Order: sequence, then structure tokens, then C-alpha cells
Amino acid sequence: MFDSLSERLNSVFKKLKGHGRLDEQNIQAGMREVRLALLEADVNYKVVKDFTQRVKERALGQEVLKSLTPGQQVVKIVKEELEELLGGEQQGLDLKAKPPVVIMMVGLQGSGKTTSAGKLALHLKGLKYSPYLVPADVYRPAAIDQLHKLAGDLNMPAYPSTSSDNPVDICMRALEEARQKAYTAVIFDTAGRLHIDETLMQELVSIKEKCSPHEILFVADAMTGQDAVTVAQRFNDLLDITGVVLTKMEGDARGGAALSIKSITNKPIKFVGTGEKLTDLEVFHPDRVASRILG
Ligand code: GDP
Repeated sequence: MFDSLSERLNSVFKKLKGHGRLDEQNIQAGMREVRLALLEADVNYKVVKDFTQRVKERALGQEVLKSLTPGQQVVKIVKEELEELLGGEQQGLDLKAKPPVVIMMVGLQGSGKTTSAGKLALHLKGLKYSPYLVPADVYRPAAIDQLHKLAGDLNMPAYPSTSSDNPVDICMRALEEARQKAYTAVIFDTAGRLHIDETLMQELVSIKEKCSPHEILFVADAMTGQDAVTVAQRFNDLLDITGVVLTKMEGDARGGAALSIKSITNKPIKFVGTGEKLTDLEVFHPDRVASRILG
């Protein structure tokens, strides 16, 4: 994760620190390299432009230029701004609501929605919730079987959806059942398509209207880079998502989606998927990730 970005930034910092005192020219040159490093990491160009502008403004401030350790000051500024780019304060699930907490997973097919639904159920079980898994992708019967299998592996209940049911009805009935059986968390695994499709989006809007989920998590494959960001923006415009789950992070050497998605959608990354196993889910901590990048 972020390997080449990390390497590039550290080499810029080494140069900056080597100068002793810094002047405007050193800083401008350093910022040009930071800009290139971010663009190579596939970060959205507008995000890069704003980022380098902010860092430059702060780095050219008097406290840096007058400092005895200006290189270190610049590194500190970059770290703080990088943390902001990744989302600032860590934001977990909104679990304040009276149970059942309703979580709706949305995203394109293959992004890792069903797997992430299972991972999240396990995470919630760890927080003493009793999750109810709800397969609401009736267009791909294998998706229903996949979630039932995951539920079996997790020893958790799943709603008995069939491919002839209507997805909105499934979610409403499952929610009713969850209330009756006192399940404390409900996770809807909604349908995805290979591309954004208006009928599907309307179906998601209907599920949102009828079931008022507390969380709408957009699941995206980190390896698709800026495409993930563009799709996130569309889902957010329509559904006002509450957060992002970035999957397949362990295979994403560049990190462009992780570094752009918060700035573009203004919604936090709440979790990252780091493998195919159900335990491969991590709460996303912007500060820790920023430290790792600048390691
Ligand atoms: P869906 O179509 O969005 O429901 O996607 P799935 O949950 O079926 O996932 C598609 C593929 O991605 C499956 O082979 C999953 O095992 C795999 N997958 C999901 N999340 C991750 C992850 O974080 N890392 C890796 N390596 N694979 C993942």
C-alpha cells in the first residue's frame, strides 16, 4: 500500500532536510516533486492542486522559513495535510440509533459488497451486536447463495430471500423480522451492476426511502483508482452515502482512490478491506495511514 508514494515523498523530504535553511525556491522545488509524486499515485488532479497549494502556503509562512529545522517543519505540514486528505478525524459507524442499526451496502458488482457485508457482520458481532444479513440482490441468484454461505460460516442468521422477490419488499420485511426477533443490526446487501444503471439506482433510492438506513456504505475496489472516485460521486449524489468501504487495499500499491475519495465526496472512508478472509477488515484511521506513508 502506498509504496511508491511513500518512497517518493521520503526522497523529497530527505532533500529538503539536507538544505539546512530553506528559501522559497527550495520549497517551490520540493512542492513540484510532491505534486508529481501524488499524480503518479493516481490522486485526482484537482485534489493534488489544492493539496500542494495548501502545503505551499503554509510552508512559505514565516515560522518555517525562520525555523532552525525547516525541513522537519515542512514534513510536519505535509503529514497534517495528508491526514486531512485521508479524512482527518477517524469516523466509525454511527451506532447511536436505537437498535436495530440498519446498514445498507451499495456499489458496483465485483467491488466486494457481499464479502464486506459478511466482514462487517463479524465486526459488529465483536461489538456485541447480533447482526441479520439480508441478501437483496435478486438479479444474481449466486449473490443470495454467497451471502447465505457467509452467514453459515459466521453462524449468523440471514433473511431467506429468493430471486423472485422484490428487493424493496425484501428489505422492508427483513427489517420487520429483525425488530420482532430483536436482532440489533441489519445489513442489506444490495444489487450491483457492472456500470451505473438508472433502474438499479432508483431501486436503491426506494430502499433508502422505505427503510431509512442509519448507514449507507459505498463499497469500492481501491484498485480501480479514479474510477472508484467517479462512481462514488454518482452514488453520493443520489443516495447521500454516509461512508466508504475501500476493498482490496492490500493489492493497491498506489493509493489514489484512498487519497482522493474524501475530498471529492466529502464522505469518510470508514473501513478498508485487506484480503478475502472475513477477518480482513480494518477500521480506517487517517492519522495512522498518513504516518505509514511518511514512515
Ligand atoms: P460484490 O459483487 O460487490 O458483492 O463482490 P464480492 O463480495 O462477491 O467480491 C468480489 C471478489 O472480490 C471476491 O472474489 C472477493 O473474495 C474479493 N474481495 C472482496 N474484498 C476483498 C479484499 O479486501 N481483498 C481482496 N483481495 N479481495 C477481496
